[in-house]
Amino acid sequence: MKAIPYGKQFISDEDIQSVIQTLNGDFLTQGPAIYAFEKKFAAYVGSKFAVAVANGTGALHLSAMALNIQPGDKVITTPITFVASANCVKYCGGEVVFCDIDPKTFLLDIQQVRKLLEQSPKGTYKGIIPVDFAGRPINSEAFSKLAEEFGCWIIEDACHAPGAWIKDSNGIAQISGNGKYSDLAIFSFHPVKHIATGEGGMITTNSEVLYKKLITLRTHGITRDQKLFENSVSFAAGIETNDIDYPGWYMEMQELGYNYRLTDFQAALGISQLKAAEKGLAKRKQIANNYDLAFQSIDKIVSPQLETKVNSNFSHAYHLYIIKTPERLKLYNYLRENQIFAQVHYIPAHLMPYYRSQGWKEGMMPNAEAYYKECLSLPMYPSMTDEEQSYVIEVILNFFKRE
Ligand SMILES: *Cc1c(COP(=O)(O)O)cnc(C)c1O
Repeated sequence: MKAIPYGKQFISDEDIQSVIQTLNGDFLTQGPAIYAFEKKFAAYVGSKFAVAVANGTGALHLSAMALNIQPGDKVITTPITFVASANCVKYCGGEVVFCDIDPKTFLLDIQQVRKLLEQSPKGTYKGIIPVDFAGRPINSEAFSKLAEEFGCWIIEDACHAPGAWIKDSNGIAQISGNGKYSDLAIFSFHPVKHIATGEGGMITTNSEVLYKKLITLRTHGITRDQKLFENSVSFAAGIETNDIDYPGWYMEMQELGYNYRLTDFQAALGISQLKAAEKGLAKRKQIANNYDLAFQSIDKIVSPQLETKVNSNFSHAYHLYIIKTPERLKLYNYLRENQIFAQVHYIPAHLMPYYRSQGWKEGMMPNAEAYYKECLSLPMYPSMTDEEQSYVIEVILNFFKRE
C-alpha cells in the first residue's frame, strides 16, 4: 500500500489539457480564463460577483482591506482555523479577538460571540470572521442577524466548504459563499482543498461596491475606468485640452493595493476542476459515510459528523473528516507506522507563539483547547480508492482492538 495522506488534489487529463490550451493562448495572466473562472465560480456558489486572487490568504487580506479595517479595530474569529483567518486582521493593523468554539460543532460559538458583543459598547467590534470549519457551514443567517444588531460586517471563511449549504428560517438552502448572509466569503484553491489550482483563491459577494473595490485592490489600487479618474485630461494627455478623451495609456493608482492576481493557466485549471466539483463532493460524502459506519461501535472514537445525518438542515462539504479520541497521539503514530498520514486541524491559533505574544494564554478558550487535545483528521480526498479507505479503517479498528 502506498502512503496515504490526509488530503490531496486530483488532476485529470482534462485538467492538464485545459492548462496546455491556455499556455498556447495569448494570455498568461489576467486574460479571459480569469473572467470565465470568476463567472463560473459565482454561478457555482450562487453569488452575484466573484474575484479570483493569488491564494486564500490574499482573499482574506483584500477582504479585510475592502471592509476598511483600521488600526485598532477589533474583529472576532475562531481559534480553530488556519491562522490566515486571523492574520488578515493584523495585516490591516486591527486587533484579533478570539472567541471559543461550540464543543459539539467545533464552529465559532455564536452564543459566546453574542456575549462578547453585549459586554462592550456598540461599535467596539467591527466585524466577525466565522469559518465553515471542516466543511460544516456556519449558521449564516443567525450570524448575519447578530452582525446587523451590532453593526458588524461578516467575512465567511468558506475555504473548507465549497458546495456546503444550510437552510435558513424560510427553509431555503443557502450555499456557503452565496452572499446572502455575509458581506464577503473567501475560498482557497490550495491542493488539499476541494478545487485545486496550486495556489489560488476567490472572494464572493453580492455587493457591487465591494466587488469594484476588490478588483482594484487586487491590482495595486489601479483603475483604468475613465469615469473614475481624478487627475485632469490635460494632465493625462500632457497638453492643454478639455475636450478629448483620456489617452489610451492612462491609468491611475488611487489607493494602496497589492498584486494578488491569479494567472490565466491557473484559472483554466480552476474552471476544469470546477466541472468535477460535484462529483468530488459526492465522493467526500460517501467516504464520510463509510467512516461513520465503521466507527459507530467504537466508544473511544467520537465522530461528530455522525450528527450530520440526523440533521437535514445543512449539508457538510467534508473538507476534513475529524474524529476525537483520548488516544490521539498513539493513534496518530500507529497510523504513521502503517503509512497513513493523518493530520491535526488545528493547533489553536490563540496559542501560537505570535498570538501568545499579544496576550493570549492557555485557559482562555477552554473548548478549543480541549478539542485540540483529541482531534485527528483522517484521510479524505475524492481520489481515495475503496481499497485505500478499507485499509485505513482496518488499521484504525486494529489499533482500538490492541488498546
Ligand atoms: C487554506 C485556508 C486558508 C488559506 O488559504 P491559502 O490559499 O493557503 O492562502 C484560509 N483559511 C482556511 C480555513 C483555510 O483552510
